[in-house]
Amino acid sequence: MVVNLKTDDFFDELETMSADARNKYSSQKLSRTVRHAYRHAPAVRNMLDKAGIKPARIRSVTDLQTVPITRKTDLIELQKENPPFGGFVTIPPEQIDRIFISPGPIYEPVQTAGIKWFAKSFYAAGFRKGDIVVNTFTYHMSPAGMLFHEALRDCGATAIPMGFGNTEILIQTMRDLKVTGFVGTPSFLLTVLKRAEELGHDIRRDFAVKRAWFTGEMLAPSLRESFENDYRISTSQAYAVTETGGALAYECPEKSGMHLMDEYVVEIVDPESGKQLGPGEVGEIVVTPIHNKTWGIIRFGTGDMSSYINEPCPCGRTASRLTGLLGRTADAVKVRGMFVVARQAEQIILGFEPVSRFQIVVTNKEQRDEMTLKLELKSEAGEEEKKRLADNLNGKFRDICRVRIDEFAFLDQGTLPEKYSKIVDQRVWK
Ligand SMILES: [Zn+2]
Repeated sequence: MVVNLKTDDFFDELETMSADARNKYSSQKLSRTVRHAYRHAPAVRNMLDKAGIKPARIRSVTDLQTVPITRKTDLIELQKENPPFGGFVTIPPEQIDRIFISPGPIYEPVQTAGIKWFAKSFYAAGFRKGDIVVNTFTYHMSPAGMLFHEALRDCGATAIPMGFGNTEILIQTMRDLKVTGFVGTPSFLLTVLKRAEELGHDIRRDFAVKRAWFTGEMLAPSLRESFENDYRISTSQAYAVTETGGALAYECPEKSGMHLMDEYVVEIVDPESGKQLGPGEVGEIVVTPIHNKTWGIIRFGTGDMSSYINEPCPCGRTASRLTGLLGRTADAVKVRGMFVVARQAEQIILGFEPVSRFQIVVTNKEQRDEMTLKLELKSEAGEEEKKRLADNLNGKFRDICRVRIDEFAFLDQGTLPEKYSKIVDQRVWK
């Protein structure tokens, strides 16, 4: 593959590191981070001592899988037991320049000097000097508003601190100031565009918006297509985790997966065992910030399910890519060693036109997991047709989820109740 590297395409040199250089870089930063946190954050020291792990033993990303995962619920508990920061702060408190508050509550101290890396995501999305951007993330309490504002400034763009809501003032501002960029959630941009149309505006004629940057919500492919084709707004998305200080994976102009930032070690793991999984395997996203000297959190379990690919990307960035968010660990069931996630299953199954509703039921017979797919169809179908549908669906399901459906059950329309779970685990462990 020939990649034409123009320096203007990249925010920093880390984005194009070779695999060897990246491995060395992350391992060194990681080992330093673990030692620093052990020395300065009592919560990390307790956790590693309890697990019998000497910090010097964590020398590479592979070594990290022995460390227990800390989840949001653990953080809330630890902060209650040991207020206000739960023993995770690694600098003297008077050096903290901001404290954000996430639901829980979780108090997150942030030292903003030198956290320029979020800007990479906006830079890859095309934000530059001359852009005028409305940032519609809230500036109260949570980090998104302020951190994204500063990242936009780091790219040279002018940022307008709109915050969330105030749709009509926002519309007027976008028109009056000839705003070129939107930062927020996809659903809010859709609300804004629709409201502007109701007010009699023609978006392509009256507005100058040419790019949008999203996080916090899945960007549905159909919505993306509508932004890009109907409104001529180029869209990019990023994956952000509040508890670890912001955006950690971002789309490049290829818009085919989100490149991981080198300021974090991101693992995809089996949420039960904590073991790292390989490319294409679905597991939980676990994050360790390796550039944050304030907040000593090691292996934060996000509860989000995803997978990654490490094939080369035509954009020239060399980091692996997250393939998107597939759902939450709570909506995932492990079947014969592979995670089946409700939202991913839904995308596959409802992609087959005849299907109106479905339910996956997992049972076990003599230690073997069995998966049954119950289907309601939009209209009556003959046996032949059902068999063909089952075969095609199973082929696609196996390709993507890497596990086969054992049995299909075709139900009459309306058999599944109004409200029901898409995946039901009926396994009995004797
Ligand atoms: Zn790329």
